[in-house]
Amino acid sequence: MSRPPRHLADLELAERRQAVAELGERGFRADQLSRHYFGRYTDSPEDMTDLPAAVRAALAGELLPPLLTEERVLACDKGATRKTLWRLFDGAFVESVLMKYPDRVTMCVSSQAGCGMGCPFCATGQAGLTRNLSTAEIVAQVVAGERALQAAGPASPRTRSGPARVSNVVFMGMGEPLANYRNVVAAVRRLTDPVPSGLGISQRSVTVSTVGLVPAIRRLAAEKLSVTLAVSLHAPDDAARDELVPVNRRWKVAEVLSAAWDYAAATGRRVSIEYALIRDVNDQPWRADLLGSLLAGHLAHVNLIPLNPTPGSKWTASRPGVQEEFVRRVAAHGVAVTVRDTRGREIDGACGQLAARAVPSPDVPARAG
Ligand code: SAH
Ligand code: SF4
Repeated sequence: MSRPPRHLADLELAERRQAVAELGERGFRADQLSRHYFGRYTDSPEDMTDLPAAVRAALAGELLPPLLTEERVLACDKGATRKTLWRLFDGAFVESVLMKYPDRVTMCVSSQAGCGMGCPFCATGQAGLTRNLSTAEIVAQVVAGERALQAAGPASPRTRSGPARVSNVVFMGMGEPLANYRNVVAAVRRLTDPVPSGLGISQRSVTVSTVGLVPAIRRLAAEKLSVTLAVSLHAPDDAARDELVPVNRRWKVAEVLSAAWDYAAATGRRVSIEYALIRDVNDQPWRADLLGSLLAGHLAHVNLIPLNPTPGSKWTASRPGVQEEFVRRVAAHGVAVTVRDTRGREIDGACGQLAARAVPSPDVPARAG
């Protein structure tokens, strides 16, 4: 399997200086290039007027290769939600979703093309894993979001503050971020390091969502990053979770929650417990009570997601009354619980439901070669 071309965003600043030196240029050119990419979101040599023209072309050619090709853009919520289907260098597809709210802009990114975890309710899980994304392929999704915001201009014509910027990043697109550990952690650093090293987004505004890979959760806790961990629990008991989240056969509910509490203790960050409510599968009152009792007293918040049914799925979302009862019972244990808004549902852009529907139409190869 060939690898994506090397990009500035794959490298730390010191490594970029070395790469520039190996191309026969002075090291500070790496800082200039980095400011263009991470500060102004451009990789076009024409924009880099502080570099001599010949140097620009050579350096951009080597260190800023195009990684994402826009295949399709879908917008909804009056333009506040924008989903992009990207084609990668090898013909693989991923999606990202940009969501504008009054007080923040959230970018939902993919960490892998496909996913190998096989959760039966998830569109991405059905197709299996194509490959891990490189660090720069992840970062480029956020840079593309910044560009889209820039192109849209100021949030309001009366604001002097200029275009909105991406304030939050959630790893809830395609893929299991902790199964692509090294590139995802490097991407988090690149997203959160200040310009020119990175994009300068606050670590506290980054959420890594995992299916529950226990050793990787423990490793992430040791990174000393202040990112929020989201754990896709979906059931409080092993019998149901073994079916909904096959990786539960390896790491049980108790082990996943124990790793989550250790993460909360190490970082001081409240863990988000994701729970897709599926009619008559995991939405019974006793499961709400069990969930509430498992989480009571811990640094946790429950995020209930009405199931977004995948094509051909036998499962559907809970009845409204059942969902309300579930919320009430969890809250009765003193546990914070919210129901996730269904932004982008009409364009299959509810995070976690990304490319799978749009992508492997029979005439479009999912991978090259
Ligand atoms: N692999 C990671 C992150 C990507 S999925 C994970 O599983 O956590 C992001 C979230 O969307 C997860 O909580 C996932 O369980 C949820 N999700 C996936 N398919 C869904 C669907 N059809 N309806 C509702 N939520 C879904
Ligand atoms: Fe993969 Fe997450 Fe989908 Fe499970 S829910 S198949 S881990 S993307």
